[in-house]
Amino acid sequence: MPASIINIADHRRPETIAELLRDARIARAFDFIDSSQSRFTAELIRICEIPAPPFKERERGNYFAARFTELGLSEVHTDSEGNVIGFYRGESEEPLLVMSAHLDTVFPEGTDVKVRRVGSRLCAPGIADDGAGLAALVGLIQALNAAEIRLRGSIAFVATVGEEGEGDLRGVRHLFSEGRLAGRVSAFVSFDGTTIEFITHQALGSRRYRVTLKGPGGHSWGDFGVVNPVHALGRVIARMADYRAPLEPRTTYNIGRIEGGESVNVIPQSATMDVDLRSVSELELSRLEEFLLAAVDRAVVDENAVRAASGAKLQAELTMIGNRPSGETPRDSLLVRTALEASRAMGVTPILNRASTDSNIPISLGVPAITIGAGGVSSDSHRLSEWYDPVGREIGYKRALLLALGMAGIV
Ligand SMILES: [Zn+2]
Repeated sequence: MPASIINIADHRRPETIAELLRDARIARAFDFIDSSQSRFTAELIRICEIPAPPFKERERGNYFAARFTELGLSEVHTDSEGNVIGFYRGESEEPLLVMSAHLDTVFPEGTDVKVRRVGSRLCAPGIADDGAGLAALVGLIQALNAAEIRLRGSIAFVATVGEEGEGDLRGVRHLFSEGRLAGRVSAFVSFDGTTIEFITHQALGSRRYRVTLKGPGGHSWGDFGVVNPVHALGRVIARMADYRAPLEPRTTYNIGRIEGGESVNVIPQSATMDVDLRSVSELELSRLEEFLLAAVDRAVVDENAVRAASGAKLQAELTMIGNRPSGETPRDSLLVRTALEASRAMGVTPILNRASTDSNIPISLGVPAITIGAGGVSSDSHRLSEWYDPVGREIGYKRALLLALGMAGIV
């Protein structure tokens, strides 16, 4: 455990949220936030309209590197994984708070990311997840600048890569394992989406597999009797679909993608599926994982038995394409308490919850971490119909500012 973590836990910050609210500089920052709504919306649109498909976040990352520099952050750099980092330096390096949001979207290359306005709504894929979070980073830096706030510690603003899907948290993993910040972070806050009530302090564990079944293939008529990977995959799916996942502890599974075969009259040579397994309990997650592995084995055995006459056998390949650890930042940690206080100060009734986000990695390493919404209202995340409405966004930005200053301290 890095020394800085012990440090922040041992030292009560001198300013409570109530004290911060009485500070004239905070009032200035709040005024700036209230009067900058159209500026924040313009920023969000600019960010959203730079495509950032999985593993192709570079262009949006370049924009952030330029933006961080323009906004006066120091030591702006892009690390070898693609995370963009810049510092708002205070009197000292510690405590070092990371404020982050993820650059990547779930949408493939070529997706139309042009923002359409429908009434007060901004419609575009990725507008809220995580356009809203990324825009909040910029808004927060602008508010700190506008009120000329001097910190006791420091804040590292980080736009991460690879949060979604097969990115498997590669950005934040790198940040905490090899990056320049590794071992130095006192607390980590990720903006993800908009919902202001949720403070995610528990990491939802997940495992993801790609299952590929292979056979010799052949003609549907001439070679009938040969093992069929699609048929076998169907056996796996049928078994999985009947799995009785417990409601408590909440456990879920999803076969989210299947693929295979060439044509209606061709016995396929391969069939593939991607499976997502989640549970708040490591035990249930392992149980579910065992079930999947057994279902694959069983399907291969059954298909080979039914088509034994052909002599050909199916091969199964299982690749783990995602593995997110679970864990939690204690309720009574300084970070969670400060987030709760800052929320209540803004009239928000906070709800502590669990999800799978960039915070999974620091949480699993014992670094206090939470994920919060950036404010505003949104729906249809991960769908082309995603939309965002900036109504109430200022509350999210002010809450985030209070949280950041409560953690980093002001002088
Ligand atoms: Zn997200």
